[in-house]
Amino acid sequence: MAVARALPQRARRLVGAWCFADHFGPVAVDGAAGMRVGPHPHIGLQTVSWLVAGEVLHRDSLGSEQLIRPGELNLMTAGRGIVHSEETPGGSTWPLHGVQLWVALPEAERHREPAFHHHSDLPVLDADGVRVTVLMGSLFGATSPAVAYTPLVGLELAVDRAERTLALPLDPTYEYVVLVLDGGFEVDGLVVPPDVMAVVEPGSLGVDLRSTAAGHALVLGGAPLGEEVAMWWNFVARTRPELEAAAAVWSDGGFGTVHGFRGPRIPAPVPWWLPTAD
Ligand code: MN
Repeated sequence: MAVARALPQRARRLVGAWCFADHFGPVAVDGAAGMRVGPHPHIGLQTVSWLVAGEVLHRDSLGSEQLIRPGELNLMTAGRGIVHSEETPGGSTWPLHGVQLWVALPEAERHREPAFHHHSDLPVLDADGVRVTVLMGSLFGATSPAVAYTPLVGLELAVDRAERTLALPLDPTYEYVVLVLDGGFEVDGLVVPPDVMAVVEPGSLGVDLRSTAAGHALVLGGAPLGEEVAMWWNFVARTRPELEAAAAVWSDGGFGTVHGFRGPRIPAPVPWWLPTAD
């Protein structure tokens, strides 16, 4: 499956606490194909799963088993450690199109107990024909029930045609990006095609969005995290030894067990900064 990684990039590693954004699809699914990601661990982050189309079955080591569909949010808080699998459910014929986002947890929260929440009751606003879903944070007084541990916002914008416009108010203390998933948008007059991340000028009080076609975009923003994070594989920590220790825990069978997924755990790679055995 083709995946476009918007975050992290060399020039931009964090947007607020948002630290990772993968855009997958749209891709046709015919039962056997689709997504199949075996059990793997996370620490120090929240995974934010969002679909534009299709369906994905989530299982985790807390015993959660949750189908996610467009308009619904799966929010997994890894904290000190959790294991999950994600797969296209058997018999699914929907095309698959979505994003996997990560939010880094701040120092005071990153060792917390793991948790999983499914939100199918997110605020949806119609702003002059732009349908805005508030995944996290608030917009126009509407607040997502999803819990974040730093000030941040995540919005999906959906339009049915070109020439839809939205004057989006921004918090000038936040960092923001606009990520176009399909279709196209102009961001303050700049044409942004799919999989190009537009970085909003710091300190902006608002941004003018205009669609150039039917499609979807995400707006991600947040208060600067103000912490140096170390990211590797599925882990967000602060130091390389901490990342190595997490890999060792996983290799020793730790972080928990996912029941119901038919297939092996994904082994941890060897940290690239360690000397090789030969
Ligand atoms: Mn994962």
